[in-house]
Amino acid sequence: MKIAIFCGSSSGNNPDYLAKTQALGKVLAAQQIDIVYGGGKIGLMGAIADSALDNGGKVFGVMPQDLVDKEISHPHLTGLTVVANMHERKAKMAALADAFVALPGGAGTLEEIFEAWTWAQLGHHAKPCAFYNVNGYYNHLLKMITAMTNAGFLAKNYADMLINTDTPEGLLASLKNYQPPPKKWT
Ligand code: AMP
Repeated sequence: MKIAIFCGSSSGNNPDYLAKTQALGKVLAAQQIDIVYGGGKIGLMGAIADSALDNGGKVFGVMPQDLVDKEISHPHLTGLTVVANMHERKAKMAALADAFVALPGGAGTLEEIFEAWTWAQLGHHAKPCAFYNVNGYYNHLLKMITAMTNAGFLAKNYADMLINTDTPEGLLASLKNYQPPPKKWT
């Protein structure tokens, strides 16, 4: 199994973000679950890669050429694919992964998990999308998603399909039990 991890190119200002990211990397390595991520060495991106690699895991990076220097491509990955642009990065990561998980992060992280989630609604894939919700970081966002359903802009089953967990064990159990909802427009 290979999980796409989307997460911050920063580490946040609470040490828990880093610690819980490292804990997840360690568990994924122990379970022999491969990681595909943005390929960077900085922020939580670097932390998830380092923790998995340090514990014998396999980590594959996918990075647009123009970010190789800015986000500092990780020098010790199992594999690094350099692509032409962001669209190719996301398509490649989506093709490689069996599931998508957002750790705390900024606008880039949200863009990536929302795209994977919207593709799931359209039935372009049937893979789970999850928030690894360290310290309730995503609680405001999840409230907004509930508000979208209450306002009639999002079917409840597409809100409910999102996995929300703050432990590696809870995450893996939810990914294993995931049942995709019917696709939109059927
Ligand atoms: P951030 O969460 O903003 O720190 O960014 C995390 C990762 O998302 C970084 O590798 C960014 O290069 C990437 N990213 C930023 N903007 C986008 C975007 N529009 N589409 C896909 N990835 C992005």
